[in-house]
Amino acid sequence: MNEVLQNLVLLQDLDAMIADAQDSEILDQTEKMGFEIKNLEKLKEARQEIAEKIPPDIFNHYCKILKAYGRAIAPVKDSLCLGCFISIPTSLSSKSIGNEVLRNCENCGRFLYWV
Ligand SMILES: [Zn+2]
Repeated sequence: MNEVLQNLVLLQDLDAMIADAQDSEILDQTEKMGFEIKNLEKLKEARQEIAEKIPPDIFNHYCKILKAYGRAIAPVKDSLCLGCFISIPTSLSSKSIGNEVLRNCENCGRFLYWV
């Protein structure tokens, strides 16, 4: 898999975890289960580390899409962007080619990865 794409997938996971760790309802549930979330700083550190590995223009685009849609990366299945359900040109839609090059959906702008 393209290294930047891999880092973007990691970044998105961390962003989701950071959002959970800041969500008071989830915090309550977690505490009731006997766990404590004290790892927010650790998560933010890890996010920072990954963010530094991503070229700034790509990172900025990621942040923009994340703000607009909540998730910046969308899986592609059966030649469809699962973010907006627009079909991806067949020349691009193969897993082996798809994940080697960083691409954005022409319709919604999300980064694409093939499942
Ligand atoms: Zn799309």
